[in-house]
Amino acid sequence: MDRDGTLSHEVGYVNHLSRFRLYPWSVDAVRLVNRAGYAAVVVTNQAGVARGYYPESLVHEVNASLRASLEGGGARLDGLFVCLHNPSVGEPPYRQDCDCRKPRPGLVRRAEKELGLDLARSWVIGDRHGDLQLAWNVGARAALVASGYGRGELQHHAARWPRPPDLVAEHLLEAVERVVSLGKRPAE
Ligand SMILES: [Mg+2]
Ligand SMILES: [Zn+2]
Repeated sequence: MDRDGTLSHEVGYVNHLSRFRLYPWSVDAVRLVNRAGYAAVVVTNQAGVARGYYPESLVHEVNASLRASLEGGGARLDGLFVCLHNPSVGEPPYRQDCDCRKPRPGLVRRAEKELGLDLARSWVIGDRHGDLQLAWNVGARAALVASGYGRGELQHHAARWPRPPDLVAEHLLEAVERVVSLGKRPAE
């Protein structure tokens, strides 16, 4: 799962903890991921660090708050992976042409190794085309949610995409419900 626009409101840069707000369906969505036996993993680009908009410590503070909110509702993340880089802005080590800035596959590859994921049976769920591209770059399937940037992506850009999303949903909970029901369908 992508973070901003998918689990939480897309507010531009989350440069203060007070700007981070989960969507009301996110706890239920992650709990369903847990109960269905999937690993629940967040992969997020936070280039605001490279840009100098906020310190790396804020990213960790926000992510700790995300985990705490989920756990308060009986949901848990199995992994949370962050790219703090930008290829052309800021200072090293944040300024670098890394392999982990989505849609590059580095974060998902780390998750695959650390958590033993089967990417061919995995989904990436996000609100931007880059999240879809990430899915396809690692041989996973791609779900686009209409929250965050998603509705605009669908309205203004999707007709020109060479490949359509494997699934389009109003929001994360609907996406997870449909992924889970697809996974239950008997093989043909
Ligand atoms: Mg997003
Ligand atoms: Zn990176």
